[in-house]
Amino acid sequence: MKRTLIVGNWKMHLTVGQSSLLAARLHKHIAGHRDIEVVLAPSMLSLQPLSLQIDRRRFRLAAQNAYPKDEGAFTGEVSFAMLQDLVHYVIIGHSERRLFAGETLEDVRDKVAACVRNDITPLLCVGETSTERRGGETKQVLHDQVVSALSNLTADEVAQMVIAYEPVWAIGAGDPAKPHQIEEAVKYIRHQVEELYGKKAAQNVRVIYGASVEPEFVHGILSIEGVEGLLPGGASLNYHKFADIVEAVYRFNRERK
Ligand code: PEP
Repeated sequence: MKRTLIVGNWKMHLTVGQSSLLAARLHKHIAGHRDIEVVLAPSMLSLQPLSLQIDRRRFRLAAQNAYPKDEGAFTGEVSFAMLQDLVHYVIIGHSERRLFAGETLEDVRDKVAACVRNDITPLLCVGETSTERRGGETKQVLHDQVVSALSNLTADEVAQMVIAYEPVWAIGAGDPAKPHQIEEAVKYIRHQVEELYGKKAAQNVRVIYGASVEPEFVHGILSIEGVEGLLPGGASLNYHKFADIVEAVYRFNRERK
């Protein structure tokens, strides 16, 4: 039985001190649940202090990005190799990086490979923009993003990773994508994995949803077939909301049993 994954993407918010305060509040307000895995993705700067502060049995850490070479003359960058002892996951290919930092399909592919090479679990984000959805290109975009990102991996490596469907148009919108849109995309992502890496990889890869996840949407989103977790951005910066999301997941899992 897979644990439900909840990843709070703090993006470029919070100083080190503020991150520490939020982590302390989350410790107080979020109980540990055996069937839920809670991951915090603070800024690069906050990873080291949080790794010392958090109870690693209750929270895991994710970086929001890293550089695909292990070391060298790459001023300003931090490698996956440097993150190895600090994080369980690295978010790769978030739409904000694809759009604002110009990350290409090849960059994302190289980062996924570097992540796996350094024994960190990749959390690959894929999703279409509103223009692409309106143009009927959603499946093509998902196909290209998934196929290219996984191209250097074995079936076993794919089976262990996480893919987040994050429709770009729903990020920060206050309203998640409609259930049928999420279901269709998640099914298609898994189908792509099955075509390339077989049934076992498709069954084992965790597929989660992100974009405007708020506590009141948790039940509806997790009821969608194939969705195994959530990636809240804005809501994860508010400890009441983040704790409510975890609580809603807990209630959903109890009901389902
Ligand atoms: C995100 O960008 O990963 C995200 C899910 O943001 P939000 O929840 O704020 O829409």
